[in-house]
This record gives sequence, C-alpha cells and structure tokens, in this order.
Amino acid sequence: MKIAVLSRNKSLYSTRRLVEEGINRGHDVRVIDCLHCYMNITSANPEIHYRKEILDDFDVVIPRIGASVTFYGTAVLRQFEMMGVFPVNESVAISRSRDKLRSLQLLARKGVGMPVTGFANKPDDVPELIRMVGGSPVVIKLLQGTQGIGVVLAETRKAAESVIEAFMGLKADILVQEFIKEAGGADIRCFVIGDKVIAAMKRQAGEGEFRSNLHRGGTASLVRISPEERRTAIAAAKAMGLNVAGVDLLRSSRGPLVMEVNSSPGLEGIETATGKNVAGMIVDWTEKNQKPWKTRTKGR
Ligand code: ADP
Ligand code: GLU
Repeated sequence: MKIAVLSRNKSLYSTRRLVEEGINRGHDVRVIDCLHCYMNITSANPEIHYRKEILDDFDVVIPRIGASVTFYGTAVLRQFEMMGVFPVNESVAISRSRDKLRSLQLLARKGVGMPVTGFANKPDDVPELIRMVGGSPVVIKLLQGTQGIGVVLAETRKAAESVIEAFMGLKADILVQEFIKEAGGADIRCFVIGDKVIAAMKRQAGEGEFRSNLHRGGTASLVRISPEERRTAIAAAKAMGLNVAGVDLLRSSRGPLVMEVNSSPGLEGIETATGKNVAGMIVDWTEKNQKPWKTRTKGR
C-alpha cells in the first residue's frame, strides 16, 4: 500500500511508530503535513497539491490531526476522501469527536452510559443547572480544554455556583457533570481498532488530585477490563464512526461511563503501559479493511 500519515510533525512518537510499522510491513509510507497541502475543489477532478507536486497515488491515509488544526486538517482529509483514498478515520467522524457536546449527544442517542451532563449558554438559573445533574459535588469543564486543564471539581453548591458564574463571565463554554467519586481518581483508556479493544490502560491521578491525565502527574498501568467495559468502548467508537479510537471510561457504581472519545489517541502511553505493538495493529487492520472509495460518509 502507499500510505499517507497526515501529521504536522514527523518526529512525534505516534507518527514515527506508524511510519516504522508501515515500512516493516513493506509499505510505502510518507508523512504529509496538512498545512502544506493546497487543493482545487472541482466536481470532475479534485486534486491535492503539496510542496509543488500533486498527491494522486495514495491508497490510504492515516489521519493524525492535532486538535489545533482540526478545521483545515479535516478539509484536507475530506479532499483525499473525494479522490477515493481510504481514510483510517473519516473526516466526519473526526469532526464529531472534536465537538464535546455533539459527541455526548451522539453517545446518549445510542444508549452509551455517560456521567449525567448539563450544558447551558446563559443559565438564568445556575442553581437549577447544578440541581439538574444531581447537585454538588460537580465537575465543571471548559469545552475548549485539553489535558485536564479547565476541569474543576466543585465540592459544594456555593463553590459550583461561583465557578460557573466566573466561567460565564469570561464567556467560556462549559459543561457541568456529576462527579463520579467512586472512580477514585482513575480512568480507563480503551484503545479500539475496528470492532475490538486491542489494549487498555488505567490512569491513576496523583495524591490529592482527581484528574488522572498523565500531564497532571497521573501514572499509567496495564489493566484488565470487564466484558461490559469492552462492549461500552466498542459501542462508543462505533457511535462516533471511528475505526481507531481512544475511549476514556470512568468505573462507576452503575457500570462504565464514557467521558471522551479521542480520534487521534496517542500511542506512546498505551504502548509503554501494555508492551503491545499498537502501531503495527493499526497498519494490519488497515491492510485488511482498506478499499478505494470505502467510507461511510464520503466526507458528507
Ligand atoms: P481532558 O479532556 O482535558 O483530559 P477530561 O474530561 O478527560 O478532560 O477530564 C480530566 C480528568 O478528570 C479525567 O481523566 C478524569 O480522571 C477526571 N474526571 C473528569 N470528569 C470526571 C467526572 N465526571 N467524575 C470524576 N472524575 C472526572
Ligand atoms: N490530541 C488528541 C486528540 O485531539 C488526543 C490525544 C489523546 O488523549 O489520546 O484527539
């Protein structure tokens, strides 16, 4: 196969590993920086130009589009789809996953368990918003946040009201979520490829912290997941239309709850924690499933 890895930076661990495992399997692999692609949009013959050449002979594209280039990156991916190139994750599915509210609404519609979540633009009645998700303690999240920044635990109703009002005053978009205390500062990252969870790790928050992000001092370890957790992760990836996904679960007393579905899950943490060749498994899955023009949405 001729593979394009759509990534801004060749030296990132995940990008390097995908290139390496592609080459190990005898494929022709190139890293393409989406910001250097320019395109002509015509109904007859869509093209992608890249640093003075035309990209017209790829079989598959593995998107690794960072959150900061979602808009342009998904447009480039859509152009590949319009040319019949097989996308490991489709542009439409990636766009869904980058919108937290859209994602949670999709998951809810498919009956996937998640923490009770409220959102509002101008809550005239902040106490009612807090009551709606079951009262304090609550977790308040900035919609634009990543790596745990902008995720706040408000232990009391008073604290929750103050934080919500402060964020609203800054015109920030937020969601308010029931706090899953029994998760004990841990979450489970399930790595889904196709219709299987191929690896899973537990991330545990440091002492005195409820956020388990590795960037916030959390530690990762290998974990065995239950059949119900497995089913939930697979259902979440499927609801989003993602072939490759990192599904983050909280272990609650009413079963696994999905917090987030990542469309470009990092490979370093999961390969290190589990010792599995996740990059190789992505390439293997791609070999088996790729076909020209095969997408659910064709970018629509
Ligand atoms: P980000 O996308 O910035 O990583 P998350 O929504 O994943 O933000 O939250 C960061 C961490 O905070 C999670 O990994 C989890 O450990 C903890 N957390 C988030 N939401 C809840 C919740 N509703 N109940 C308990 N812990 C939570
Ligand atoms: N930056 C990745 C994304 O936006 C998330 C990385 C991860 O947490 O796995 O999809």
